[in-house]
Amino acid sequence: MTKAMIGIDLGGTNVKTAVVSREGDVLGKDSRPTDAEQGLEAVLDKMVEGVDAALQAAKVQRADVLAAGIGAPGPMNWQTGVVFAPPNLPGWKDVPLARLMSERLQIPVYVDNDANVACYGEFWLGVGRKVDSMVLLTLGTGVGGGIVLMGQLLRGPDGTAGEIGHLCVKRDGRQCNCGAKGCLEQYASVSGMLKTARKRIEQGGLNTLLLEMCGGALDNLTGKMISDAVEQGDTFAKWVMEETGRWLGTGIGSIINLLNPEMVVLGGGMIGAGDVLFNPVRETARAQSFEVPGKRAEIIPAGLGGDAGVIGAAGCALNRVERDAGKGS
Ligand SMILES: [Zn+2]
Repeated sequence: MTKAMIGIDLGGTNVKTAVVSREGDVLGKDSRPTDAEQGLEAVLDKMVEGVDAALQAAKVQRADVLAAGIGAPGPMNWQTGVVFAPPNLPGWKDVPLARLMSERLQIPVYVDNDANVACYGEFWLGVGRKVDSMVLLTLGTGVGGGIVLMGQLLRGPDGTAGEIGHLCVKRDGRQCNCGAKGCLEQYASVSGMLKTARKRIEQGGLNTLLLEMCGGALDNLTGKMISDAVEQGDTFAKWVMEETGRWLGTGIGSIINLLNPEMVVLGGGMIGAGDVLFNPVRETARAQSFEVPGKRAEIIPAGLGGDAGVIGAAGCALNRVERDAGKGS
């Protein structure tokens, strides 16, 4: 058989692993708790256990694996595979993750940023299968992003290319954790959406189900409450969702002008809102971009869900093995 790839999605809560054929068939999967609080060695053990379990499920031997890819939380040096100090992996400091895992698995191991890897997953086997250039925005606590241009993941020498969440959409806007102001994720993430809701509710004079749902304590407001209120026909909640969509569209319009992607893919729980979110995103993005690339760029929901990371990690590793082989010959 042709050799298979391993993809690992290293999160603060779970380690997910998949064995993927070079043709893109998922042959076996595993998911287990990261146990991040037990420190580096325990996490590495967990990753090896996950690989063995996924190989067993796939009925593939370690000897039949070409390489492994890991999607890890940044910041990191993707070229050396060193992960600096991810906030959700306590005790990790300048960890040479690629080397440590390569020693354990006895195969080449490549490390990439988890958001980039998810983008590559959608590009390789998800909704982006038929395009050459796409951008992914994952809407969660923050806004993660990734860019594939002409079939290649855009990483940048410092690995920070594709930090779409920190695109400035408002000068002197809301303070961002990155130190800058007015970043897209301050408006378009779930936390950003909640800020928009709270700010307007605090001005008073509103009649909305949200007040009842959070028991009058605005700090208890969640993204789910907003989606639920939208479904129950709450006008204010619908406005909050639409406003969030308009902020997203503002950022996406600039991305379209900058990169001319064929596709802009949105992932994360928030996309469950459907047209209430997507309509204002599309309208604003078109209004904010040149006509031709604005019409070309399809703005659609992601397709792989929670599997984008493992699949993308395997795909990134395959792409890098092939690139390294090309350089050597
Ligand atoms: Zn920022």
